[in-house]
Amino acid sequence: MKALVLDGALSVRDIEKPRRASGEVLIAVKKAGICRTDHEIVNGYIPNFSGVLGHEFLGVVAEADDASLIGRRVTAEINAPCGVCEMCRRDLERHCPHRTVLGINGRNGAFAEFVSVPRDTVVSIPDDIPDALAIFMEPLAAAYEILEQVHITADHSVLLLGDGKLAMLIALVLKQTGCRLQVVGKHARKLTLIKEMGIPQTLMLAAFVNGQYDVVVEASGNPEAFALAVANTRPRGTFVLKSTYVQHLTYNPSPIVVNEITVVGSRCGRFPNAIRFLQEYKPPLQKMITAEFPLAQAVEAFDRAKQSDALKVLLTV
Ligand SMILES: [Zn+2]
Ligand SMILES: [Zn+2]
Repeated sequence: MKALVLDGALSVRDIEKPRRASGEVLIAVKKAGICRTDHEIVNGYIPNFSGVLGHEFLGVVAEADDASLIGRRVTAEINAPCGVCEMCRRDLERHCPHRTVLGINGRNGAFAEFVSVPRDTVVSIPDDIPDALAIFMEPLAAAYEILEQVHITADHSVLLLGDGKLAMLIALVLKQTGCRLQVVGKHARKLTLIKEMGIPQTLMLAAFVNGQYDVVVEASGNPEAFALAVANTRPRGTFVLKSTYVQHLTYNPSPIVVNEITVVGSRCGRFPNAIRFLQEYKPPLQKMITAEFPLAQAVEAFDRAKQSDALKVLLTV
């Protein structure tokens, strides 16, 4: 089968089709989305990763132990936990120390014609969610994770740093809480799109004057935003760090101590939250799709996704 393989460099190659182990489900991939994390892996975020990238996808079940699954339109949660350790028993599977992560750590991903995943990670996509929305399931669940971790209501002022793909999804999710949301970014066109999605308070970074927000979410992916985020969190406020940085950070953390700021690291979320959100609000996420490329042109797709005006770039299999 054809797959996009990272092995020092990226290339589309013919590799052996995954052999489905018992307890796993083999999915014929239809669409997959390129994410910031994929670029970071190419840039060395996961040392020594080699294999098939891709963790945002949807497809159709081709093989499964349970025949009733075959033909179903599905996606999958990206963490494959061991199911027996302390973390797994406490319902914290996403933190299982023995987990593999689809296309990220120890498990081949979905930029391929087929992907094999554990049965328990497979999520059926309801019929009323079209492919163009379902492809955002994983990053939307990650955006929603913030609300699982931090209680945000209409009484709160929230600053969101970033105007990229994940920041847009976070903005849409936060908006539903009724909070006073301010988005600050660097790209006029992306901020305009966020405005068109119904979040009027968007500002270019250069025009931003420091404030004292109850909650600050850093989703810009830029290490320089870390200090800005802390500086804008009110004393006893909450700073949610959504970005992972390839680079190291040189930062004196005293303001976090002095202002008694709660720092919350935030990663992946649960798919049922994303499904409910898509069904209830039907957000206009199609506007975020910049381009679609066939899998054979996946390397070109990565180049397109890297350009500063790009939002979601999809691969069609
Ligand atoms: Zn992702
Ligand atoms: Zn475990």
